[in-house]
Amino acid sequence: MQLPDQQSFLLLDPPSASDFCRRASLREKDSAHDAHFPSIDLILLSGAIRDAGFRPHYIDAQLDRLTWSQLLDRIRKEGVQGIISLLSSSQLEEELAHLKELKASLGGIPVYGVGTIVLLKDKPRLARILQDHQWLDGMILNTAENNLGELITPGSDSVAPFNIAKYEATQLMVPEAKVRYGDGLRISRPEHDIFRDGRYCFPQSKRGPVTCVQWAFGCPFRCEFCIDNQLYKKMLYRDVNDVIEELVEIDRLGFREVYFKDLTFGLHRGLAEEFLAKLANRKLGLKWLCTTRVDVATRDMLELMKEAGCYGIEFGVEHAHESKRRMLDKKITDEKIAEVFADCRRLRIETTAFIMLAFEDDTEQDVRDTIRFARSLRPNYVSFNVVNALPGTPYEERARKEGFLREESDLAFAAGNIRHTHLNPAQVEKLRRQAMRSFYFSPRVVFQRLLDVRSFFELRKLVRLGLATMG
Ligand code: SF4
Repeated sequence: MQLPDQQSFLLLDPPSASDFCRRASLREKDSAHDAHFPSIDLILLSGAIRDAGFRPHYIDAQLDRLTWSQLLDRIRKEGVQGIISLLSSSQLEEELAHLKELKASLGGIPVYGVGTIVLLKDKPRLARILQDHQWLDGMILNTAENNLGELITPGSDSVAPFNIAKYEATQLMVPEAKVRYGDGLRISRPEHDIFRDGRYCFPQSKRGPVTCVQWAFGCPFRCEFCIDNQLYKKMLYRDVNDVIEELVEIDRLGFREVYFKDLTFGLHRGLAEEFLAKLANRKLGLKWLCTTRVDVATRDMLELMKEAGCYGIEFGVEHAHESKRRMLDKKITDEKIAEVFADCRRLRIETTAFIMLAFEDDTEQDVRDTIRFARSLRPNYVSFNVVNALPGTPYEERARKEGFLREESDLAFAAGNIRHTHLNPAQVEKLRRQAMRSFYFSPRVVFQRLLDVRSFFELRKLVRLGLATMG
């Protein structure tokens, strides 16, 4: 309950440099990423702030296209006692400089940053940043994938109040990961209502408003290019009943869609069966979307997911060739992938295939094979991503060792940061654009899309996605 004199704490998605899309870490025009939804880190933090006696407040300055000075005016008008701001890896120094000014203009209120996994992995850089920015009251790391209770009060078994004193300047907030596979973690229930915004949608959304939930943290697989899996060797699950109650509340608040931010939804089979059966029993109006692996999505599991309200699944398909997938820790046959996509079609679960275009040794033919393979699966959506060697990944390490990393690495460059043996950057970029167009403008996909449109919300989203694809 909100008390009239309750102090508010701002959760901030800060302004971004013009022409930069923070969510996609790309220039806006290259991102084809016209779906915006709130950060799961901020959503998870909102409950901890409330439990500490503050009123969580939220501004998405990127969505509102605020400049830093407009943001300052708005904060002054709305009044906050502290700020927790997302930070990006590639714009970090610029963002910190602006936050420092903001803090000074607001009389020195506490300002905390939410660091990225890349930053967490690069401890010397993190130490340097904290040393250089002693005005920063603390850096919250690992928020979305950790036991937030333990993060806030290390060693505690229960959800602890948000303790500002814990976040001292220059303190390295790198909590010990105490993960127990299948354990019933409890965290502060997020305050979803403050993130409600009619402009938010997922690329696959059919209806709004939308929000995000996280049930499990971590992923035990070791895909070479992946940074998201780097925090845990094991997975940590939140208490099943607690997550169900969170979804019931989200439904009651009027949200229509949820995106599970778990890296591999439903990996723990027993917990997934329990969770899905309980969710189906509640008969909520909510529909949801998740990401998982093809080798997790058995027929039985897909049926349970459908009954529990799942309308879409994102799968990492990555590459056309099994040999390449095996190298990436995706030891999955072509037949198995085709079977799972067909099962989803039968159950009317929409599919999104994540595809990685142009590994360092790919030829033009390999890339074309991959595009063709993606299309042959008949997914509803495909996300074609040019391979990037993300900092802190084994792939980056290998790229550096084998000499195919472009040291002038720039994630704002749509054609990736690796040198190709058989392709130049212009060819890679051309292939990516061709891939997008050949999929999204194929008569089958356009026709199906138009047939499937059920609401103005969806039509508006499709027009925006189409424009981004043409960009
Ligand atoms: S399965 Fe997904 S989240 Fe897990 S390591 Fe592979 S790419 Fe990363």
